[in-house]
Amino acid sequence: MIYFDNAATTKVSESAAKKAYEVMIECFGNPSSVHDFGYEAEKLLKASRKAILSKLGSIDRGDDFIFTSGGTEANNLAIFGALGARKHGGKTVFFSDSEHASIYAISKELEKTGYTVRYIPTKNGVLDLDFCRQHFSKDTVLISCMYANNETGAVYDIKALDSLRKKLCPNAILHTDAVQAFCKTEKPLCLCGADLISVSGHKVHAPKGSGGLFIKAKTRITPLFFGGGQEKDIRPGTEALPAICAFAQAVQETDEKSNIKAVTEVRDHLVCALSEKLGQVKINLPENYLPYVISLTLPAIKSEVMLRFLSAKGIYVSAGSACTSKHRENRVLSAFGLDSKSADCTIRLSFCEYNTKDEADEFLKALDEGISSLVSLK
Ligand code: PLP
Repeated sequence: MIYFDNAATTKVSESAAKKAYEVMIECFGNPSSVHDFGYEAEKLLKASRKAILSKLGSIDRGDDFIFTSGGTEANNLAIFGALGARKHGGKTVFFSDSEHASIYAISKELEKTGYTVRYIPTKNGVLDLDFCRQHFSKDTVLISCMYANNETGAVYDIKALDSLRKKLCPNAILHTDAVQAFCKTEKPLCLCGADLISVSGHKVHAPKGSGGLFIKAKTRITPLFFGGGQEKDIRPGTEALPAICAFAQAVQETDEKSNIKAVTEVRDHLVCALSEKLGQVKINLPENYLPYVISLTLPAIKSEVMLRFLSAKGIYVSAGSACTSKHRENRVLSAFGLDSKSADCTIRLSFCEYNTKDEADEFLKALDEGISSLVSLK
């Protein structure tokens, strides 16, 4: 099998899986229990939180990290939680026009409940900062822009958004969905200036069902659920300790520098070979990007058709975000600048450090075969 769909989900690392097993079998206490066994579980929970805050680059002791079931829940907690804590003030909320479905769906919900929602253009993967300069105002309560795009790999300038926010709407909350950037960049994410940062475990070799929200010191959030006071009452419910400890394990063992080097080698090898085919296959290259994702537009072959062809050969890629692939829409690719025909013929390859150049060569061979046989079927 060749797995080039790591932006959809990753394989759990051996040590993260072992950690989850160990916690399930040996330290299965409830972190809220008041006996020593519960206390041992609470120690693990605290150590996991500390490890993730440290990976995020937090240096302020007032910062916090609230464990959730993953990126979607962290995004919901960030947006609805931050807006819930700000009962007074403006009514305008900004999102980029390239957000993942888990944010886009929230933006649609907000439109229904009386917020004015504006979408910041991101043509070629670049945030339109002039649009922000023109439209950020005292009425702006929240700005949310992803750190890295799941379909194109584009990296957006969150620091520039922070500077504009400070100048034009200093009371607005800045959130970034960093699900595709966490553990994939050498820059500590906290330095981007966002008050709230969403991350997910299953994108970084931890089990599904783990993730969380970074909350900068003094940022107020109201809960979405109510219960027994866990996670500072912001996300009550017994913590999923095995998944949380495995998440911390996977995060701690990530070596961003060496992973980026490994992934870049595979990516550059592919880009180099594909460049020779230009005209046949177009690489949708953002101005700034992480090497983990490449978006390729094929010559008049629908992405689903190529996906099935490659899948029959044991090569797994995707046609965009896994979350929207069952009901395809090209919102993100069209925001990038692709027309709908090109977007329909676009596939996504996404990597992790386990991928190799040999796999890239096998993919290239299969792609070549696919293009020859599928184009000639037309
Ligand atoms: N945000 C982005 C950018 C993503 O790529 C994803 C998943 O693909 C999510 C949020 C949702 O994360 P989760 O699957 O952990 O809910």
